[in-house]
Amino acid sequence: MYRCESCGEVFEKAKEVNEPLEYFGQKVNMTEHLCPHCGSDDLAEVHECECCHVNLTEDNVCKECVDDMRNMISQMLADFEDEHDCDYSFATNLLIDTLNE
Ligand SMILES: [Zn+2]
Ligand SMILES: [Zn+2]
Repeated sequence: MYRCESCGEVFEKAKEVNEPLEYFGQKVNMTEHLCPHCGSDDLAEVHECECCHVNLTEDNVCKECVDDMRNMISQMLADFEDEHDCDYSFATNLLIDTLNE
């Protein structure tokens, strides 16, 4: 699935255009992937978020889910910090980074 960065449309198949090129005297066919709506070649490959299965994302997990998780983890760590008197904010970022690797 692709998302056009120019017009924001999401589509299953990009428009493929064969562009004949001369490459060191050889004829080569380059396939260009274009937006079927506006013709832009600024496309991002996107897929369903592995967490909510609703939003489309270029990463494993969409931004909304990352934010949700960040809030949840921060809340958990804040409770934990209250009891243990340590700063765990670095751990939050570490966990979020791991999710999107
Ligand atoms: Zn477009
Ligand atoms: Zn999500």
